[in-house]
Order: sequence, then C-alpha cells, then structure tokens
Amino acid sequence: FERLKDGLSKTRQRFTERVESALFRRKIDAQVYEELEDALLAADMGVATSQYLLERIEKEARKQKLSTADQLIPVLRQLIVDILHENPTAMNMVDTGLTIVLLVGVNGVGKTTTIGKMAHYYRSQGKKVMLAAGDTFRAAAIEQLVVWGERAGVEVIRQTTGSDAAAVIYDAIAAARSRKVDILFCDTAGRLQNKTHLMAELEKIYRVITREIPDAPHEVLLVLDATTGQNAIVQAKLFKEIAHVSGIVLTKLDGTAKGGVIIAINQELGIPVKWIGIGEQKDDLQPFSADEFAKALFP
Ligand code: GDP
Repeated sequence: FERLKDGLSKTRQRFTERVESALFRRKIDAQVYEELEDALLAADMGVATSQYLLERIEKEARKQKLSTADQLIPVLRQLIVDILHENPTAMNMVDTGLTIVLLVGVNGVGKTTTIGKMAHYYRSQGKKVMLAAGDTFRAAAIEQLVVWGERAGVEVIRQTTGSDAAAVIYDAIAAARSRKVDILFCDTAGRLQNKTHLMAELEKIYRVITREIPDAPHEVLLVLDATTGQNAIVQAKLFKEIAHVSGIVLTKLDGTAKGGVIIAINQELGIPVKWIGIGEQKDDLQPFSADEFAKALFP
C-alpha cells in the first residue's frame, strides 16, 4: 500500500489541495461545488464523470440534509468507490491448463514493460510463464521483450522482425502446451497510424488463438499511459471498437497528477482497470484495488 501511495503522490497532492480549498468554505454553497468540480477535473476525471459525480453529491447532500462542506467528502469517496466496484478487476484465469493473455495498445505506452512485470509477478507466485513476441514490426520491441524475459527468468518465443505476428503466437501456443505453461502473455504491435492494418492484424491473432483454444484469449488487456490523461480515454474508445478489450493496464501513474482518469475509464467505458504501473522496475506493477486506490487518493 505504501508503494501505491507513493506512486499516486502527484495525483493525491493536486486533488487534495483543491478538495481542501473547497473545505475552506464551511457551509455548503454553490462555490463549494465549483471547487469540488475543479478538484475532480484537476485529477483528470474528465468532464462527463465530474459532472456525474457532482450531480450525485448534490443529490445525496439534499437527501441526507448535509450542511457543512466536510460532510461531502465521505460521500464523494463512496461514489468513487462505487464506480470502481462496478467492474470486476480480477484476472480471468483458467484453473488448470493454459491461460492466454493478449496485450494491446499504442507504441510507447509501456506494453513491453508491463508484460515483463507481469511475467515477474506471476512467476513469483509459482506460475510457469511464457512470452510471445507478437510485435514483429519493431526489432527493438522483440529485443526488449527478450531482455524482460531474461530479467523475469521466463522463455520468450519469437521470430525475426517482419514475420507474421499470428504465426509467432501460434508457435508460442504450441510451445506453451508442450512445456505445460500456465500463462502465456502475447505482445502485439501498436501502430495506430494504420488503423485498418492494426485491426486486421489483431483479428488474425484473435482467430488463431480461438481456433486453438475456443474460450481464449482469456484476457485482452489494453495498456494505456496515464500521463496522457483524457487522450487515454480516446485510445480506449478506439481499442474497444477494434479489439475485445476485457481490462486495462494504466501505466506511469507515478509520473502524473492525472490518476483520476481511472475513474473516468470505468465510468465512461465500463472497462475495469485491472493493473496499475507505478514505476519502471519489475516490482512496479500492482493489481488494481478500488478500496486501496480510494484510500491512497483521499487525505
Ligand atoms: P511499449 O512501446 O508500449 O512497449 O512501451 P515500453 O514498454 O517500451 O515503455 C516505454 C517507456 O515507458 C519505457 O521507458 C518504460 O520504462 C516506461 N514505463 C513503462 N511503464 C512505466 C510505469 O509504470 N512508470 C514509469 N515511470 N515508466 C514506465
């Protein structure tokens, strides 16, 4: 929890500063709501979600006949926790047999790093993990995944740059089966410049996986960079259209005050944030917990 609190320090600081300035006014009045809205927007919860939260707070305040500004804070906190609890954050895993996790997202968001951290996480839990270097477009992506594989002590299945991503993943499934792997993480390319091409590539990968294991992939995780704030929402909307996204990994929370975007993603897209990245090291990835997040966000 201390690591999470640390990672969220920028978001917390910006958010609480403004919440405190709202609390400065003791009685609930229009100004208090304006300042609370300012706090929500400053933490990058987005216009739609901030508006929704404010309407709900006002309604609750009337219902519970609240009179002082500090009484609004537990209400706000509970509303945020409720939004975050609406979508299940646990990973969908197969009890016995192979679990396949596909990672999608635009270049630079932290996809490769996230796969490396996940490999480390599950390996520490005693799982047998394998990685598939499905971003065959960039040589650096393959090399970087190999480095992470070594760091985490797991095997990486790869082919040369430019080869067919679906073929790499097909090979990886065969290898994972023969070596009795528990979880296979598949990297994919993230060239958004060519949306049609990316869509076709992801669909082909998806087909290859389903042909081998009908209920797979068990998770399609979209990796988003928290420092891009509301732009992460735009990317999430797009990937929701072109891939069967089941969860989100929000990276680089440590470097930004825009952590409130987690709430906007849940509220506006109905996709749960399942993991958060709070640094560049292998331990800097945590399963997302709504309660801990709320605890770390509020003063
Ligand atoms: P990819 O292109 O999506 O595969 O992105 P990379 O995995 O190469 O990551 C891009 C950069 O972001 C690298 O310098 C990573 O170290 C950095 N990065 C990834 N996740 C995090 C995170 O949670 N926090 C911080 N501070 N940096 C991160």
